[in-house]
Amino acid sequence: MFASLSARIYALGALVLLALASFAAILVDSSRQAGEAVQWANHSSAVIETTQIALNQLRSAESGTRGYILTRSPTFATSFDEAVNNADLNIGRVVAMTRDNPAQYGRAQELAKLIKDRCEMLRQSVDLGRRDDFSKAQAKIANGQGRELMDAVLVRTRNFLDNERALQSSRTEAVNERLRWTEGLTLGGAGLVALLVVIGFLLLIRGIDRPLAAVLRVMTDLGNGQRSARIGEAMGSREFSELAQSYNAMANQLERAVADQVSSETQLQEANAELQRNSETLRQRGGVIEMLGGMAHRMQAARTDDELAQIIRVFVPRVLPGIPGALYAHNNSRNLLIPIAGWGGMEADKEGFAPEQCWALRRGQSHFLREVGSDIVCSHADPDEIYHCEPLLAGGEVIGVLYLHGTVEDETRFRLTVLAENIASALVNHRLQRSLREQTIRDPLTGLFNRRYMEETLTLEIARATRSGVPLSVVMCDIDHFKRFNDEFGHDAGDAVLQAVAAELKKQFRSGDVICRFGGEEFTIIAPGTTAQVLMDRVEQVRQAVGEITVRQKGRTLGLISMSFGIASWASGMDGNGEALIQAADVALYQAKREGRNRVIVNGTVA
Ligand code: GH3
Ligand code: MG
Ligand code: MG
Repeated sequence: MFASLSARIYALGALVLLALASFAAILVDSSRQAGEAVQWANHSSAVIETTQIALNQLRSAESGTRGYILTRSPTFATSFDEAVNNADLNIGRVVAMTRDNPAQYGRAQELAKLIKDRCEMLRQSVDLGRRDDFSKAQAKIANGQGRELMDAVLVRTRNFLDNERALQSSRTEAVNERLRWTEGLTLGGAGLVALLVVIGFLLLIRGIDRPLAAVLRVMTDLGNGQRSARIGEAMGSREFSELAQSYNAMANQLERAVADQVSSETQLQEANAELQRNSETLRQRGGVIEMLGGMAHRMQAARTDDELAQIIRVFVPRVLPGIPGALYAHNNSRNLLIPIAGWGGMEADKEGFAPEQCWALRRGQSHFLREVGSDIVCSHADPDEIYHCEPLLAGGEVIGVLYLHGTVEDETRFRLTVLAENIASALVNHRLQRSLREQTIRDPLTGLFNRRYMEETLTLEIARATRSGVPLSVVMCDIDHFKRFNDEFGHDAGDAVLQAVAAELKKQFRSGDVICRFGGEEFTIIAPGTTAQVLMDRVEQVRQAVGEITVRQKGRTLGLISMSFGIASWASGMDGNGEALIQAADVALYQAKREGRNRVIVNGTVA
């Protein structure tokens, strides 16, 4: 009924006030009634007392009258009038006082009449005495009428007083009854109010204690770390229900805040772990990049494909540990992937393969099989093999492929990507360098080494021959009457003759011999490890082969070609840069020219 605790306290206060007010009103009423009862008891006392006074005054008047009549002494009659008047006055009062009670009132009137009659009779006697008619006055007293009347007065008075005393007694009893009732009411009412207050406060305390205990229990649970603890019981009052709701809302917010904090901490830890992983990855990548940098540096310094292959064989297994593989690169005509190097126990296929055989090269992106049958298989690979082909791209152009036996995991992917980029750029660089170097050492028209290369090589070969003592010979040769080709067929025809002769020289001499265009239509061949005598036979074959060359140009057949050859061998005492050796060969050549051309001269000897 009273949902609010404060409403209950107000209600209890109001109830107590009401009870106290009712109680006070009853007490006041009871007190008033008791007062009235006392008044009535006092009233009866006054009636009795006044009646007795009136009777006493009557007796006084009677005794005064008798004394006067018998003694004839006027002193007896002096107070007669006063006594009679007072008796009359008092009995009149009594009549007035009993007006509220008809029975007593009737008796009082009757008594007053008797007293009046008795007074009148006494007055007649006194009056007779005052007129000195004492004998008649005595006779009057002696006739006994006065005696009878007085007895009647006494009887009536006793009756009247008995009634009045009974009335007084009942009124006194009523006073006592009222006082007892008031006492009982006081005790009962005070007890009732006290009981009411006690019960009310007990109920209030219970209404505070139970929800307070529930709140404290949940707060203690929360303090002990039980974050899901909530106040779920009925609180019994609006105030505590609101307190519980507010507390639960606060606990919810706290739980969310703690959850957020836990989540933030988890995220922080995850971020930290991620950071550490990233930092480890970066460290590893840094190591890989450093390693690849070393590899790239060496690859750029590599002069030959063989050096390149050695570098790859050393570094790639370190960058991709546990993954055997081989490197293939396009040949110059780009119709074949030729093997450069193999590593990790894998030998590169010496035959190589066509670009069309590799899906990585065809698509320009990684092609791999992590399971047999999971994708189309390159025809250069084993169909039952798990492998990975990584194309090498440089400047948007495919220049080769890394063929790996096994699976490249995602974390190794970065290494492979950087490795492929490095190898691709190193290969391109290597080819560019080779091309530039070729340009600096080759004669563009004939493809033979140029004079500068010849001089460098000769210096090296002389140094080697000096060290090892192996023979070293040089051939100087010159096309006979070459000028005529130019003159007769034009400069282009002359060039064609030069190219044909150069090709023949390349064909005829050993691979270890270094064939150079000395200048114009003159050529130099350095033949390490060969004596002039041994060389002479081959040069003679060359001379004959040159003589059989037929050059066709613009639909014309140019004339026969012949060459003169001079051979000289290095001898101790010659200078280290080869000038003397070239000079010696040139002397022999000059001799061949002088002796009629189309011949071979060795150190002044005709072959
Ligand atoms: P000999 O038998 O005495 O050697 O007579 P030769 O005509 O061969 O010699 P000569 O020194 O008189 O003439 C060489 C000519 O070769 C002169 C030059 O114009 C020509 N020549 C030099 N270099 C080239 C070249 O690269 N191409 C062409 N077409 N001609 C060249
Ligand atoms: Mg010449
Ligand atoms: Mg010539």
